Formats: sequence, structure tokens, C-alpha cells
Amino acid sequence: MNPLDTLNKEIIACRKCLRLVEWREEVARVKRKAYIDQEYWGKPVPGFGDSQARVMVVGLAPGAHGSNRTGRNFTGDASGAFLFPALYRAGFANQPQAESRSDGLFLKDMYIAAAARCAPPDNKPSPEEMNNCQPYLEQEFQILQPKVIVCLGSIAFARVLKIYSASLRPSFSQNGQGGKWKFGHGALYQLENGIWILCSYHPSQQNTLTGRLTEKMFDEIWKKAKTLLYENL
Ligand code: SF4
Repeated sequence: MNPLDTLNKEIIACRKCLRLVEWREEVARVKRKAYIDQEYWGKPVPGFGDSQARVMVVGLAPGAHGSNRTGRNFTGDASGAFLFPALYRAGFANQPQAESRSDGLFLKDMYIAAAARCAPPDNKPSPEEMNNCQPYLEQEFQILQPKVIVCLGSIAFARVLKIYSASLRPSFSQNGQGGKWKFGHGALYQLENGIWILCSYHPSQQNTLTGRLTEKMFDEIWKKAKTLLYENL
């Protein structure tokens, strides 16, 4: 078994956060009316994608009726319906649809993970729950050694900075933000170890329906992620 498979097995069996275990299982039992005939995943959602990926995407946490239902990140919800077409346009995904774990989707040069692996009430994992979950993300970084990390939303960005706190280079940023590690759509930083950190608004409905995040803005992120693969210091 490769190290990612071993790690994913461990993630799926995790029950560290009592509140989240109860919530994810309760949602899976009660279900949403539209999915009443489906069997919900109801467990931690592991990362997925290309085991040779150079680009890692970090989201927040599974949606109650999205990936907590389907068992794959961003699959079966509105955020995924915005994300995967963009990844397809950028050449990171082989298809724009993401409906189930058996829909034929695969990612090229990309791996998708999250700050927390269990669906939280109100989409808000607590700091303690994210601390519990952080070792999984650290292990994914260790195994994959990504060149570019795309943070979807400020919470994912803060978590990535926490992990790499020893490698922060405060004097360096590419977007004229005075070297401060501040979240903003398109904000770009480089760690001392050479890893690029690129920020994007999260493709939640709250952002996409209000026009805060447009297709064009999102496409620019993935285009930039690609070009960073070929940039050095
Ligand atoms: S959020 Fe992470 S640490 Fe907490 S129970 Fe789920 S997988 Fe385990």
C-alpha cells in the first residue's frame, strides 16, 4: 500500500473529535430529503487526487450533504459544481462533473485536502478540531512535497501558515502587500523552502452567488498555479 493509501485509511477511521463524529453520523442518518434513498458516507473524508501531484489544494471541511454524503472532497455540492469545471478548464481534471466516488473523475498533478476532514455544524470546525486534524494535512505535505499550495479561503490559509510557521519569509510576497502574510484573493507568497502559497476565495455559494468569486477570477488562480510550477525564487 502506498503511503497516501495508508494515511487515508487512518483518516477514515478517525474519531478524535466527539462533536464532529456525532454530527457527521447524525447527518448521515437523518439525510436531506433529496438524497433520502442514498447511503451517506458519514465518515472523515480523505484527500484525493494524483499521488504524484505538485499542486495541493486545501479547503475548509466537508459539506454536510456534499462530501459527507459522497465521501470525496467537493463532490456533490454547489462548491464542487463551481470548482471542478474550473479545474477541468485548467487541465487539472479530466471532466467537469463530480457527483460520486465512481463518476470517473481523476485529477492530474493535483491533490485536494482540507483543514478538517469531518463535516462540522454550520460549516465551522473549531480551532481545537482543526488542531486535531492538522497532522493529517502535515503528513500529506510530507508525502507529496508539493510545489504549490492553493488555499481556498482564509481558514485554510491560516492552517497552512501554522504548519509552515518555521519557513515563513516575512519579507517576501509577490503582490505588494508589504511582506505581510495576509489572506486575499490572488495573494501569493513563497516559503523559505521554495513552496508557493496561493490564496483564493473559497468557491462557496456565499461567494459565487454574490459575485465575490467569478469564473474569471477563479480561472486566473488555476492558471497562476500552473505557471508557478515552472518558477523558482
Ligand atoms: S475532524 Fe479530523 S481529527 Fe477530528 S474526527 Fe474528523 S478526521 Fe479525526
